[in-house]
Amino acid sequence: IRNAEIIAVGSELLLGQICNTNAQFLSKQLAELGINVFYHTVVGDNPSRLEEVITTAKQRSNLLIFTGGLGPTKDDLTKETISRVLDKQLVMDEEALTNIKDYYKKSKRVMSENNKKQALVLEGSSILVNEFGMAPGMALTEGSHTYMLLPGPPKELQPMFSVHGREYLLDKLGVKEQIVSKVLRFFGIGESQLETDIEDIIDKQTNPTIAPLAGDNEVTLRLTAKHQSIDEANRLIDQCEKEILDRVGEFFFGYDEDTIYSVLFKKIQDSHYTLSSAESLTGGLFSEKMTSFTGASEVIEGAIVSYTNSVKEHVLGVEKHTLDTDGAVSEQAAKEMANGVKKLLQTDIGISFTGVAGPGTMDDQPVGTVFIGIALPNGETTVHKIHLAGTRDGIRHRSAKYGCHYLLK
Ligand code: ATP
Ligand code: MG
Repeated sequence: IRNAEIIAVGSELLLGQICNTNAQFLSKQLAELGINVFYHTVVGDNPSRLEEVITTAKQRSNLLIFTGGLGPTKDDLTKETISRVLDKQLVMDEEALTNIKDYYKKSKRVMSENNKKQALVLEGSSILVNEFGMAPGMALTEGSHTYMLLPGPPKELQPMFSVHGREYLLDKLGVKEQIVSKVLRFFGIGESQLETDIEDIIDKQTNPTIAPLAGDNEVTLRLTAKHQSIDEANRLIDQCEKEILDRVGEFFFGYDEDTIYSVLFKKIQDSHYTLSSAESLTGGLFSEKMTSFTGASEVIEGAIVSYTNSVKEHVLGVEKHTLDTDGAVSEQAAKEMANGVKKLLQTDIGISFTGVAGPGTMDDQPVGTVFIGIALPNGETTVHKIHLAGTRDGIRHRSAKYGCHYLLK
């Protein structure tokens, strides 16, 4: 393949009713593959003019990519015209026919006879599967010429080309593609919110592709880039990552196998600080996670499980007045617990967890109310109040993770 020509078929394009965004998309994709595009041609739904276009294009280009006119209606005549010009029969493709039948079954509509027409393909061509519509795409190589036929709707064309079209061309170019993927991890933002915030980025991205995944109050995005050069695939990923983090960076904490605990552990270890925790509703969960890493003794001095008011008062030094007036689940108690454990265990940072894991309420606070206190090396103490939903176990575990989230800020 030396040089390509993109042939968009459709009278709406010539009438100015739609813009030829397919050509723009394909040109970008072909540039990435290192294929030169020398011509963009647009022609109406007219068989003799389309025939003329094909004949001309064949003389000056050896990769011809057609978009549009693969549908079932009378004006869709791309396949039929190519079939005539190349003298190739149109044959029924059983797999495509099954797909079309399934599509109708799923949408509970009755299939009309002319829909079968969409399962007709050029003999000897490879089918490009259409995951988002009925008309399959196809690709055919004859001597020095390759012909590729893609459906008009961008929502069908883009995924078809990004996956199957690319693969076909790379195979013809004799290039092996490298796949690089990277997982971005987020905490403190829901899946639907994250997806809404970056919807336009997800929609326009085809390389890398972005796949969201949710679980356990964490959301992950998997970016997968394909390119013949690993360096270029990595560059595409970095560029996309930057664009995503510009929007939702405040919720990002790590990559791939990272957990919010491992990232926090590493950060404190690198800063040579020590950490202690005062845990009421988490009952030691936080320190259990933080001591699971090798080298924990450099980072974690110890923890006080201050489950009762008595331990809060007599071990951590929380004022009796605070417990009596504000209650154990309060901003003031969280603050004194964090300061108390930091002082008691003589660490640089102290963190505290106090809240209502349920099922019953406490100190007039509803289930899921949690205060997290953080006593910093500079003597400042901050308290974060959160409201969590879910089971007792879920609230306890998520509280511990929120502790990491705030410590990472
Ligand atoms: P269908 O099965 O939907 O009829 P088709 O392959 O026959 O698909 P067309 O009928 O040519 O394709 O176009 C269908 C729709 O796809 C157009 O109405 C338009 O919205 C979009 N479309 C077609 N060509 C282009 C293009 N070059 N750029 C952007 N959008 C296009
Ligand atoms: Mg059509």
